[in-house]
Amino acid sequence: MTAQLLFARYRPKTLEPRDSLGSKWLRLLDQLDLAPAVAGRRTCIKMHLGGGTGFTTIHPFFTRKLVEKVKAAGARKVFVTDSPGAVLSAVERGYTAEVIGCPLVSVTGPADDQFRRQPIQPAFKTLTAVELGAAVLDAEALIDFAHVKGHGACGFGGASKNLSMGCVTQNTRRDLHALEGGIHWTAKLCDSCRTCIENCPTGAMKFTDAGNMEIFFHHCKLCQHCALICPQGALKVEGGGYRAFQKGLALATAEVLAHFAPPRRLFINVLLDISIYCDCWGMTTPSLVPDIGILAGSDIVAIEQATLDFVKTEDLITSTLPPGMAPAGDGHLFQRLYGKDPHAVIEFMEALKLGSRTYELQEVE
Ligand code: SF4
Ligand code: SF4
Repeated sequence: MTAQLLFARYRPKTLEPRDSLGSKWLRLLDQLDLAPAVAGRRTCIKMHLGGGTGFTTIHPFFTRKLVEKVKAAGARKVFVTDSPGAVLSAVERGYTAEVIGCPLVSVTGPADDQFRRQPIQPAFKTLTAVELGAAVLDAEALIDFAHVKGHGACGFGGASKNLSMGCVTQNTRRDLHALEGGIHWTAKLCDSCRTCIENCPTGAMKFTDAGNMEIFFHHCKLCQHCALICPQGALKVEGGGYRAFQKGLALATAEVLAHFAPPRRLFINVLLDISIYCDCWGMTTPSLVPDIGILAGSDIVAIEQATLDFVKTEDLITSTLPPGMAPAGDGHLFQRLYGKDPHAVIEFMEALKLGSRTYELQEVE
């Protein structure tokens, strides 16, 4: 089935205020048909509120206007939610109840201990269950309000990552990351020559104090240099690790969405300040591409597909890349930057019947 998506383009055709993104945002929300999703329901807006010195999460203006429109559409109660640490420091980025017009609630409670353990059936590798936050489970309607950015472990962060990593406990985030894998080190073959470490282009490798090889998968581009250069044959690139991580994200997303049957769920991806790393890094980097706009709809697969379609290699602003980072190989821009195909999570979600990759865009004028 072809999904219908709304798109508000950042670039104005004229310099009239009504042609700006702020004005288009209001019209997009009017066209989004919020009432069937939220009227009479306790409505949860899931955001990534960032941390540290980061400042390129979704601007509070957009959140405030969304909250106003959700209330006007008849929601019984509205709140914004994210992980406990992000909620605690949200004021640093301008998110307060006074500014956004509704409470900010820790998704798993202030101590990360309010959740329900939901088994994954069948279990996927080491992932046997996800611990879903009580705040999301208590809601009756969900608005997945996601800031789009690059991501070293899965290629990009958007609607699915906002739910799968953002509506669960720290334990579940650890279990999802544990699926990454990717490079196998055989200790008995290694003579600690450090050739691999010195030739890793991303600085992803190091020896621990105990003498074990540690590979930071987030930075690893799966370029295989380490395996090719190792004189002892101690490193083997397995490659599928990131796909396992993405499948884990898709499975966790499905568990969240199981609580919000259509029409009680909506997705909004904000394609502004598309930074190199996730908001959880607690820092901000320049945007990889010019700001694009805002997508919205009721199909998570379609909105993620459209998001990737909008982020084009030819739009990369190379001067924003940190030293040592450069696109390489083929495929999507995110694949060239991180070595991981960002489409995998979309394919897994489609296989789980969470939506369709086929979409039509309706541009908000
Ligand atoms: S595959 Fe490439 S990026 Fe990854 S650890 Fe090896 S050398 Fe470093
Ligand atoms: S290049 Fe091979 S032998 Fe040398 S430290 Fe790396 S893994 Fe060990």
